[in-house]
Amino acid sequence: MARYTAAVCRLCRREGMKLFLKGDRCYTGKCSIDRRGYAPGQHGQGRKKISEYGVQLREKQKARRIYGVLERQFGRYYELAARMKGMTGVNLLTLLETRLDNVVYRLGFARSRAEARQLVRHGHFAVNGRKVSIPSFRVRAGDEVSVREGSRNLPLFAELAQVAAARTVPAWLESVPAELKARVLRLPEREEIDVPVQEHLIVELYSK
Ligand code: SF4
Repeated sequence: MARYTAAVCRLCRREGMKLFLKGDRCYTGKCSIDRRGYAPGQHGQGRKKISEYGVQLREKQKARRIYGVLERQFGRYYELAARMKGMTGVNLLTLLETRLDNVVYRLGFARSRAEARQLVRHGHFAVNGRKVSIPSFRVRAGDEVSVREGSRNLPLFAELAQVAAARTVPAWLESVPAELKARVLRLPEREEIDVPVQEHLIVELYSK
């Protein structure tokens, strides 16, 4: 599967804000935004004049980068969100937020969404007792997400259980870090999705 493999800190610098793509490093003085808080590239420090289209585009790119979704897949999420009942922008964020890799990250079973994606892909997680190795798998209300039996004794998960215990889990999830499992109580409300994205700008972009 295609994926972005270049330096991820460039993505934060391009968006002009911390997107927390690297886990622990994002909270240290090594963060590139703290050290070089301007856009990457030769003209990164030049004057910025951004059009209305540019603002909408940046918002879409930001959402894509936060959740680690490629362009075509993001477009599919948008189409699906537009077909669902309710507000398209909120539906879009809900679809992204309920991806299994994001849920694993929210629960603290990974330090970043990228790590969560890799752990899911390597088959360490189960949903309702069945192995799921697809990061985009969409969890539903009532689902139980757990670290698989064979992975529980790995030193990595002993470490991640501590990360999970320290993590504030959103109210739509119920976590039992000591048992490396959690339950999806319901779908998230918009105000519970704490990503710095103005979804209405993404809807405006795709509505052109
Ligand atoms: Fe972004 Fe984290 Fe890199 Fe800082 S350290 S620029 S927040 S990915």
